[in-house]
Amino acid sequence: MLTPNMHYADLKSSYLFYNISQKIKAYLEKNPDKKLYRMGIGDVTLPLCDSVIKALHEAVDDQGSKDRFHGYMPEPGAPFLRSIIGEYYRGRGVDITDDEVFVSGGASDELGDILDLFDRSSDALVIEPAYPAYVDANVMAGRKIIHLASGKENGFVPEPTEDLRADILYICSPNNPTGAVFTKDKLKKWVDFANERGSVILFDAAYEAFIEDEDIPRSIFEIEGAKTCAIEICSLSKTAGFTGTRLGYTVIPKALVRQGMCFNDMWVRNRTTKTNGVSYIIQKGGAAVFTSEGQKQIKENIEYYKDNARIIMKALDELGIWYCGGKNSPYIWLKCPNGLGSWEFFDLLLNEIQVVGTPGAGFGACGEGYFRFSMFGSREDTAEAAERLKKLLK
Ligand code: PLP
Repeated sequence: MLTPNMHYADLKSSYLFYNISQKIKAYLEKNPDKKLYRMGIGDVTLPLCDSVIKALHEAVDDQGSKDRFHGYMPEPGAPFLRSIIGEYYRGRGVDITDDEVFVSGGASDELGDILDLFDRSSDALVIEPAYPAYVDANVMAGRKIIHLASGKENGFVPEPTEDLRADILYICSPNNPTGAVFTKDKLKKWVDFANERGSVILFDAAYEAFIEDEDIPRSIFEIEGAKTCAIEICSLSKTAGFTGTRLGYTVIPKALVRQGMCFNDMWVRNRTTKTNGVSYIIQKGGAAVFTSEGQKQIKENIEYYKDNARIIMKALDELGIWYCGGKNSPYIWLKCPNGLGSWEFFDLLLNEIQVVGTPGAGFGACGEGYFRFSMFGSREDTAEAAERLKKLLK
């Protein structure tokens, strides 16, 4: 008799976004005339920039032309995109080669697929509060998860400790949900730890483009020693509004070797077996992001979201509420005032001022008592939410 992957039965149901939508539905049924100020979503709201749209149109036309038509793309990515991403790194002083860059259909796909490179007996360390996919993708494979709680006392950026044992280490900086960032020193401690133990860091850099402080690393490969212990997973979703267009990239250095196995070679083999590459049209659109005009245009959109963050940070400063994130990140993670729990605070904001955020408890037990605001909404709604927060909480 066939046995399904029984590890799926070990998955904890995530009620977070379902609960939120149910509460909103119930509220709007009772109060149909009320407008909500939504700061819970992790999706972007601004459209793709002009450079990307132009490149996408041109690529569509290529596909209709006998001379310029493209069939299958090379599985690890089109050379034009791998090289412009390689340049993007080298232009910031990070010395990687084009064949260390792999094009993907987005960071989520990659975060799941990359686990093929690790034996099922390897265990995974997840720093919490965390993006839920890290835990779930490993539970599906039957891996043991080591939960490392972080908190206000370490600014949600914990350091490795002597007694810690783990094979796969997830680090997300700037972090979702906390918005916290790892400094070079903090990251170096994890890099040294991984090299000493033979672990591999999966560095999720989905929000690197939001970093504005010069001394905060945007790539783990800015840290000495990282090439022998890290894989970096990136996405154009938040950087350039590709959530619905789908494109990401992953950097696997050739120097990353364990027990004689080179992870870069393994990933080439994996991609050529399990994918047929990302669409030519989308890769053309993605390449436009890395041109100088594209960079200028995406930065304007990022600044728009960051101005939203500045508005909320100012309101929280005035109210004396503790928070992290916002500066190098599109998320603000705050301590619920007056000792309220995450869901109590959610209810209070929804019922009293029609502001919607995300309860921190949904990102791991240590998120209880915290709350996440996302900055991807409109300026008008964000400004109104800030005013309402000030009136309610002062
Ligand atoms: N990693 C983090 C930390 C995220 O917050 C997200 C999306 O919200 C992703 C990865 C997934 O990104 P993508 O849209 O490229 O799949």
